[in-house]
Amino acid sequence: MPTHKAVHVPSAGAALTLADVETASPPRDHVRIAVSACGVCGTDHAFVNGGFPGLSWPVTLGHEIAGTVAEVGDGVEDFAVGDRVAVGWFGGNCNRCMPCRKGKFMQCERMQVPSWHYPGGYAESTTVPATALARIPEGLSFVEAAPMGCAGVTTFNGLRNTRAKAGDLVAVLGVGGLGHLGVQFARAMGFETVAIARGEGKAQDAKDLGAHHYVDSNATDVSAELQKLGGAAVVLATAANSEAMAATIGGLGPEGELVIIGVTPDNLPISPLDLINSGLSVTGHPSGTSRDVEETMHFAVQTGVRAMIEERPLAEAAEAYAAMDSGRARYRMVLTV
Ligand SMILES: [Zn+2]
Ligand SMILES: [Zn+2]
Repeated sequence: MPTHKAVHVPSAGAALTLADVETASPPRDHVRIAVSACGVCGTDHAFVNGGFPGLSWPVTLGHEIAGTVAEVGDGVEDFAVGDRVAVGWFGGNCNRCMPCRKGKFMQCERMQVPSWHYPGGYAESTTVPATALARIPEGLSFVEAAPMGCAGVTTFNGLRNTRAKAGDLVAVLGVGGLGHLGVQFARAMGFETVAIARGEGKAQDAKDLGAHHYVDSNATDVSAELQKLGGAAVVLATAANSEAMAATIGGLGPEGELVIIGVTPDNLPISPLDLINSGLSVTGHPSGTSRDVEETMHFAVQTGVRAMIEERPLAEAAEAYAAMDSGRARYRMVLTV
């Protein structure tokens, strides 16, 4: 049987190692992808440390996959060998459960995630359900497409599903792997865009990414600064910090929305009193379906939104992961094959 290289995490907390894995043909309704690029996401930390139930070791990380269909299983009608495809956090849905029957594919009871329910994209080859596939448009390279499957679609969807209208004040909390895309998408959607981060280190980057305003949360009261600008219709919270999220609540205008995409288990210190009079809402937002990923990539092509990327070859996955995990990587690390 032919083999391919894949990065293994042998057990919870263990080091990433390169392994040879047998390359099987895809089962029914699946395709095998020859991986060209795979993003390194902050959530990979939780996979490495066994933070998801039912992981089977060794785990192969990677849910920001871009590559070419190499083999097609029985029953796959709409994709062919050679198609350029991306697979993000949404790694397939069942189309049979109650949420799927209601069209709520992100809430599918059997939703699959690469690296959780099957080996992910830190590999030369990966096999995925056809429902997970997003077509990569012309105008986007594999490296550019990879982060759109998680960081891109999460920020894009988080923003476009709010009630904010063009011209409204929209703030993005955190200017990192998610936030640097959030700032660009907010600007491209026509919002007056505020970037919020700790210290002055990100101020110039935020402006370069399109922010009209920058708020240093170390130096100022974030809510007061947002109110000076007229009050935000939306705060997109990308920083995984519940205190920092709660500190923006007072900066929302009437019926403003705090949209949470930064992943943290810590309780939000927000009082019902903070919400009631102004009619504020706090919502969580999952990433998005394969079609949402396509729409994210299409919008990125139209508007020029791109992740700021550092590339590393697959063989240096351990170093790339360590750079992300330690905060040394400023925006998005992408592994290339
Ligand atoms: Zn992710
Ligand atoms: Zn389902």
